[in-house]
Amino acid sequence: MFDENHLIHRLSRHAAMTPGRVFARREGQPDVTLQEMFDRAQAIAGTLQAAGVAPGDRVAVQVDKSLEAVQLYLGVVLAGGVFLPLNTAYTVAELDYFLGDATPAVVICDPAKRAGIEPIARGARVFDLAADGSGTLMQAVAEGPAYTPVDRGPDDLAAILYTSGTTGRSKGAMLSHRNLLSNSEMLRDYWRFSERDVLIHALPIFHTHGLFVATNVALLAGAEVNFMPGFDPDAIIRAMPSATAMMGVPTFYTRLLKHPGLTAETAAHMRLFISGSAPLLAETHREWERVTGHRILERYGMTETNMNTSNPYEGERRAGTVGFPLPGVELRVMLDGNEVEQGQIGVIEVRGDNVFKGYWQMPEKTAEELREDGWFITGDLGMIDPEGYVVIVGRAKDLIISGGFNVYPKEVEEEIDALPGVVESAVIGVPHPDFGEGVVAVVVGDASVTEDRVKAALADRLAKFKQPKRVFVVDDLPRNTMGKVQKKALRDAHAGLFD
Ligand code: AMP
Repeated sequence: MFDENHLIHRLSRHAAMTPGRVFARREGQPDVTLQEMFDRAQAIAGTLQAAGVAPGDRVAVQVDKSLEAVQLYLGVVLAGGVFLPLNTAYTVAELDYFLGDATPAVVICDPAKRAGIEPIARGARVFDLAADGSGTLMQAVAEGPAYTPVDRGPDDLAAILYTSGTTGRSKGAMLSHRNLLSNSEMLRDYWRFSERDVLIHALPIFHTHGLFVATNVALLAGAEVNFMPGFDPDAIIRAMPSATAMMGVPTFYTRLLKHPGLTAETAAHMRLFISGSAPLLAETHREWERVTGHRILERYGMTETNMNTSNPYEGERRAGTVGFPLPGVELRVMLDGNEVEQGQIGVIEVRGDNVFKGYWQMPEKTAEELREDGWFITGDLGMIDPEGYVVIVGRAKDLIISGGFNVYPKEVEEEIDALPGVVESAVIGVPHPDFGEGVVAVVVGDASVTEDRVKAALADRLAKFKQPKRVFVVDDLPRNTMGKVQKKALRDAHAGLFD
């Protein structure tokens, strides 16, 4: 089926073999089979072609999570287009940048946003698609325009995903059919996904984690997904007894741990809990094992590279580490142009079929981060521990330089997190007239946690230059939808502190 399309041919393999198999189950709604997924994808592809999508054209999509949105992803790629999903949180003003940069041929949005988007669509055809599948896209599909097969090979683009852009403008990471397929096939095997699996799918599908890792792996394995519109702890607890695996961001795990329904019995049918997209606290790892009997498998990836490392399926899953480089992925840690010794911190670089093809229309940015010999400079600081496990220390841009000394926020955060009453912390550098940057800690904890106590507890635990000059106790840390702490927001909030 779909031999002409490198990615979709493989994603639809199980649909060709067992078309009647259920792909998705949803609470209160009918199951959807593999055949229905790909029939609809093909119909959408035909509709997009009729709307003018030519090979290589971008199709920008900002819609709520739905199975129709997954079919749309498959349909765009099948039409020879480049799928460009956008975070549902973006406002019309923010979308203006993405549409101007990507110049899509077609834009698909929520019906409620249509009036705002049409004036900034720059001549693109606009369709709408609501969470329940209604809207002008599916009306056009119902008219049944025919699909014309388009040849798409391994090096053709399948998607552009914009990075979350915590510094400067968001960049569009160009991902080829090969980038996506090679990584998902490898992950399916590494994590042992098969037709026997039922994957809890509660992640958003505008991001690499929910879109490529979860959806592609499930399709490639012929696994079923329990497809949820978003993260709802009650729904996940209800789903676990008939599911086998879950992929989540760390906040899924911390929130589920607060649910009284999470027990070893509830999780007894599950074989695998995977975490990624942001650091999982070692404490969460231990607590999850204590409550459920399962050790979370933590992995590390990014929009530009798909997945790079993973803790082992068999063998020790080590808290606070992201495991080993995955098959087909080379990884090295660099400092000042040289590879560092094992145990030393530097910037992580990766190379392999997983690594993207560059930033859309940003050749200078691409040249800065993607070396000619294929190594991608991730911007993550990390090291390889004595047993070969990779440890992520933080983003290079979050490194604090105070009085000329490097302070790795994670080291300070780990000390603070270990204090009684502390839930979590974020350590940032704030401009300081004497030191360049001053270390500041933002801490979530109970009433016993105060600035003076945290400072006193760290006094004989950390070198003076690493000790926070100020500690702020707050209710929550600012996070994005993928659970990443927004350090830039914290830095901005405290910018004038030492003036
Ligand atoms: P994104 O492109 O939005 O997926 O973000 C990728 C970034 O998330 C990486 O460069 C890391 O900084 C971070 N990240 C992803 N997975 C992990 C992990 N398991 N532990 C620590 N940081 C992670």
